[in-house]
Amino acid sequence: MKPVLVWFRQDLRLSDNPALDFAVKSGRPVICLFVLDDQSPGAWKWGGASRWWLHHSLAALDKALDGRLVLRRGDAAKIVRALVKEGGADTLVWNRCYEPFAVARDKSLKSDLSADGVTVQTFNAALLHEPWELKTGGGTPFRVFTPFWKAMRAMDVAKPLAAPRKLDLQKAKSEALKDWKLLPAKPDWAKGFDWTPGEKAAHAALYDFLDDVKEYGRARDLPDRDGTSRLSPHLHWGEISPRQIWQAVTTHGHSGGSETFLKELGWREFCTQLLFHNPTLPELPLDKRFEKFQWRKSAKDFEAWTKGKTGIPIVDAGMRQLWQTGWMHNRVRMIVASLLIKHLGIHWREGQAWFWDTLVDADLANNSANWQWVAGCGADAAPFFRIFNPVLQGEKFDPRGDYVRRFVPELKAVPDKFIHKPWTAPQPPAGYPAPIVDLAQGRERALAAFQALKR
Ligand SMILES: Cc1cc2nc3c(=O)[nH]c(=O)nc-3n(C[C@H](O)[C@H](O)[C@H](O)COP(=O)(O)OP(=O)(O)OC[C@H]3O[C@@H](n4cnc5c(N)ncnc54)[C@H](O)[C@@H]3O)c2cc1C
Repeated sequence: MKPVLVWFRQDLRLSDNPALDFAVKSGRPVICLFVLDDQSPGAWKWGGASRWWLHHSLAALDKALDGRLVLRRGDAAKIVRALVKEGGADTLVWNRCYEPFAVARDKSLKSDLSADGVTVQTFNAALLHEPWELKTGGGTPFRVFTPFWKAMRAMDVAKPLAAPRKLDLQKAKSEALKDWKLLPAKPDWAKGFDWTPGEKAAHAALYDFLDDVKEYGRARDLPDRDGTSRLSPHLHWGEISPRQIWQAVTTHGHSGGSETFLKELGWREFCTQLLFHNPTLPELPLDKRFEKFQWRKSAKDFEAWTKGKTGIPIVDAGMRQLWQTGWMHNRVRMIVASLLIKHLGIHWREGQAWFWDTLVDADLANNSANWQWVAGCGADAAPFFRIFNPVLQGEKFDPRGDYVRRFVPELKAVPDKFIHKPWTAPQPPAGYPAPIVDLAQGRERALAAFQALKR
């Protein structure tokens, strides 16, 4: 019997994996492949933190597949075509990706292989609904979240598929994961990452979170608490599906918290459909006026921001959390992004690139759409003139300064009253920088640049 080739991509799981399910149900042997594709034209190469995650996630998937995951590196289309031939497969299956370069690559691969007589079947594993399923009354893609969410919430969500009970896996020559050197060596900047990648750990994280979901509405904004699910990297790599999460949350019991949480999954879908329908989202502002925005260039300020040395405690805590753990709380992501774009006047794409390299959940759609949201140039974005005051944000969402003290030890002894503005303390803390920007002046400069753009 000719085998079916399953090409794993951002669906590193066995359960609710429609491509794998299809292959297994065909009753034929299955070859499981993953390609490290840094070579497709236009490919966004995974950043350092993503590669760390990918290493561990592939190791977990390989274990679940009894050591028979085939690893290859290079131009994915070429590799897949070669393995179809080599393995004698007449059917190729995959779950769809929505990054513009992946869409282009997959489309042309599908047509080439179909022309060669190979059956190619593709499936939806990453989203609750395909980006082309939800349309406005006028038949166009949504650009405003609220009506998008209303339409999405009214749709039925398909039930997740169970993991195959038995796998008939065919072997093929594989590269060794360690030879891919996805892990950092010297220095090992990932030593503070307290994550367990893989499908099992993803489900454990979901079940842990279900106990707290009813509190989510309030707790999700407080970075000093564990109030969010921390499912983002598992979701990005497809170790768990949004259908599985949706089903678990909706059957667990309804609450204000669960509804707010489902809405966040809605934001994820919204971002992906924005990227799908606007392939230049990672590079160009959706609001074309912003193409002429006068950004500042300052390598010094940018470096202080990346290193968590801006002298603004909530920003520094966030940037250090990112560096130390590969993740940052959503509220703080908004604050640090706002400071970079508005008070410092630095292009959102510089911040986006830093996040791309350092986040374990770096996701082309979510990252680009959210940076554009903060910059005020995206779809349904926060208006540019609404500028977060990081001191007030800190005082509101980290009122005792626990989050700041956890990541900025230089501020441990600063009294609560001054924790978000230590430069006003009678004795500013030793070893901690003064703010690199005067917040009032930075705000005025940003507003002036915006006025100039409007003129
Ligand atoms: C500047 C900026 C950049 C961001 N970059 C990314 C990124 O690269 N990858 C990424 O997954 N998220 C990104 N986000 C969105 C958000 O911060 C994270 O998804 C969230 O913090 C992940 O933590 P969690 O899993 O505990 O989220 P929870 O609060 O538990 O939310 C559950 C899930 O909903 C989705 N979600 C939540 N908030 C958003 C949002 N604003 N937009 C899209 N999806 C959302 C995520 O998949 C998340 O795992 C970014 C936000 C900002 C402001």
